[in-house]
Amino acid sequence: MTAYVHLPWSVSELEPRASAFTSIELTNILNVMTLQNLPLGNESRITKVGGNGGLRQHFLDMGVIPGASVKKIKLAPMGDPMEIEIHGYELTLRLEDAAKIEVEDLKNLSEGKDSKTASSVSLGSVTNLSDKTSSSHPGLGEEGNFHEKATENPLPDGTILRFALVGNQNSGKTTLFNQLTGSNQHVGNFPGVTVDRKSGEIRGNKNTLVTDLPGIYSMSPYSSEELISRDFVLNEKPHGIINIVDATNIERNLYLTMQLLELNIPMVIALNMMDEVSGNGGSIDVNKMEKLLGVPVVPISASKNQGVDELVKHAIHVAHFQETPLRQDFCDENEKGGSVHRALHAVFHLIQDHAERSGIPLRFAASKLLEDDKRILYKLDLDVNEKEILEHIALQMEKERELDRSAAMADMRFSFIQKVCDSCVKKPHESKERLRSQKLDRVFTGKFTAIPVFVAVMAAVFFLTFNVIGAFLQSLLERGIESLTELADSGLSSLGTNEVLHGLIIDGIFSGVGSVLSFLPIIVTLFFFLSILEDSGYIARVAFVMDTLLRKIGLSGRSIVPLLIGFGCTVPAVMSTRILPSERDRKMTILLTPFMSCTAKLPIYAFFVSAFFPNHGGLIMTGLYLLGILAGILVALLYRKTLFRGEPVPFVMELPNYRLPSARNVAQLLWEKAKDFLERAFTVIFVATIVVWFLQSFDLHLNLVEDSSMSILAKLAGLIEPLFRPIGLGDWRICTSLISGVMAKESVVSTLEILFSDGVASALSSASAMSLLVFSLLYTPCIAAISSVKRELGAKWALSLVIWQCAVAWIFAFAVNLICAVILPAFL
Ligand code: GDP
Ligand code: MG
Repeated sequence: MTAYVHLPWSVSELEPRASAFTSIELTNILNVMTLQNLPLGNESRITKVGGNGGLRQHFLDMGVIPGASVKKIKLAPMGDPMEIEIHGYELTLRLEDAAKIEVEDLKNLSEGKDSKTASSVSLGSVTNLSDKTSSSHPGLGEEGNFHEKATENPLPDGTILRFALVGNQNSGKTTLFNQLTGSNQHVGNFPGVTVDRKSGEIRGNKNTLVTDLPGIYSMSPYSSEELISRDFVLNEKPHGIINIVDATNIERNLYLTMQLLELNIPMVIALNMMDEVSGNGGSIDVNKMEKLLGVPVVPISASKNQGVDELVKHAIHVAHFQETPLRQDFCDENEKGGSVHRALHAVFHLIQDHAERSGIPLRFAASKLLEDDKRILYKLDLDVNEKEILEHIALQMEKERELDRSAAMADMRFSFIQKVCDSCVKKPHESKERLRSQKLDRVFTGKFTAIPVFVAVMAAVFFLTFNVIGAFLQSLLERGIESLTELADSGLSSLGTNEVLHGLIIDGIFSGVGSVLSFLPIIVTLFFFLSILEDSGYIARVAFVMDTLLRKIGLSGRSIVPLLIGFGCTVPAVMSTRILPSERDRKMTILLTPFMSCTAKLPIYAFFVSAFFPNHGGLIMTGLYLLGILAGILVALLYRKTLFRGEPVPFVMELPNYRLPSARNVAQLLWEKAKDFLERAFTVIFVATIVVWFLQSFDLHLNLVEDSSMSILAKLAGLIEPLFRPIGLGDWRICTSLISGVMAKESVVSTLEILFSDGVASALSSASAMSLLVFSLLYTPCIAAISSVKRELGAKWALSLVIWQCAVAWIFAFAVNLICAVILPAFL
């Protein structure tokens, strides 16, 4: 793939190419001002963006380009990462990345104000949401108005119009998607990956299908999820794109728009959050923007359901008539010497035939090639000569523009955006939401308050879930299930049903599925709080605050949330890893959640503590929790060296304004999670219950057993018993109860009580009891959790996790047993 030819002359007079950039040490030695050593609160202008590869491209795509002004706002409480303000929004990045971004301190320059922000242009016909009636669209994407590029023959009636919903993260995609589709949405997976693929018909419009794509900032894929979005629009060729743009953050959002326009796919722009813009005295001249961008622009507020109908009308129109964007050329031949313009157009000509053959839109292909996108280069399959010419074109552009190619392209796009915004956007003064966010952040990410607040928030969530709301609902549900069971029980008895069938229904299905079902209220309540925290923007802050800590074990800040939920219940913890942006982080986090001791294990701890160590309850409980965390850290370090080499996602993340979550989104999410869980309860878990019931109720000759010691389960337990002997648990009854614990951890205790009729205390030594506690802490999670893992990562991973956890548990239990039975007594 790297078939670039070596060129005979030196390019050292240029800005060095990405790979040759300076390291932290070097910048410090040279005493260059970087974002890292810039004092807090100072305005500055970026002079150079170092680093290389995808991360550098990502920085550029987020607007961190030479010439942009930045302000360093604060450091996270643990000193890393930092928060900066750029293009009017907040971004986080790690210090080591900040060290690669060189700046000049504007405080030291006499007139340091950015002239751009001051230029609020007076506008002719300003449209905002409230005076929609006064706006007459120039006619793009409207009935009876074909623009000259529209195809003569529209798509045949009855074609299912497929739309892709594309936009930045937090631009309101999910909110709009829920408005568009109502409840007719279905969730699947993108082929080959386990990322939700939500599609649905637009309400009231048969023959439409809109797909919600993962949020992206540019068409240079950076995380695996972003690759999904890009591949979707490139390969599945939707009939139309609905590009959702956060109008309160319009410069950054339009960056993606520029690249989408190059795809030559019919498109409408949904200018979202217009309620906030007009609420703060800002406005956007939609008509003018439409003219400049060459696609319909519809102001909407997704959360208030304003303008959505009009958006749909336009979307269907452009897709049906296949009206492609009027403008795809954003380079200006008169600007900055026109070098980018000339280079781009030269590449257009150079690759035209290849682009047609490979089915990649020409403009898009050309600008990606100039940005050094290896995937596109590979797909285009250029000839050696062409590659050489391409490289010459790019080098000449770099030389003339005095910027490297990626930065030059990003700069070209942002210059165009600046022009569009200068002429169409009247910025709101200082938005209420922004001020509110800054105030909240003084507490939520403040140096001394952030961590206590976080602990308090999580404690409140747990308390409310496990002690108040969830527990209340759970007891209601349990009572419901109980009375239903009784009803079924007496019904079956009065019908004189066969005893075995009776046992299967009541002892197997009702009690098994019932015990798993009783998790449901907990899960729903936990997700209720979680989705509020996520949608409001708080989770992003948590990630910011916790990043340093999690980085030590090879994860990034966001993983803290699933891990904490793991202390409640592994099932929602695994499900919640979907908030993580990278596959690597997601897998690793899922595999670590079982180490967080879930609440279902509490009865086991309580039982043994009261039987063996009544005076050291607190100590032992705390010790167990800490041991779980310690084991998790050790395993994480191991994973990091083996399964999950490489770095956690670099921490370049937007900190969105705090927003009130939409009730609809929350409800939709709860419904999805509940449905997902119920589906599993009645499939995987249903089958597993029947199997365990069968093993427990029959002996090897398939006779119903009276005494459970004769059952197949007991025989199986007897088979694995030798394995448990070295850890001090060589008793078939303990093995049986551990096996039954796979159904639900609580049943370890109930099984023990049945099997040890004269009490456990007399049958076990305290060393064995310790060993059993440690083993229960760490061994395989319950069937509900396993099936969540299977849903997220597939059967292979789920099975490996089961085996792996048992192995880890065995090792730890062995050590603990050894210490308690041999080493400690020797000293005492
Ligand atoms: P996504 O990340 O693109 O899916 O964005 P979401 O749909 O989750 O929305 C992010 C946040 O913005 C949520 O808190 C929404 O409630 C909020 N939001 C979405 N649309 C609007 C809008 O039109 N106006 C306002 N004020 N808030 C909105
Ligand atoms: Mg979303």
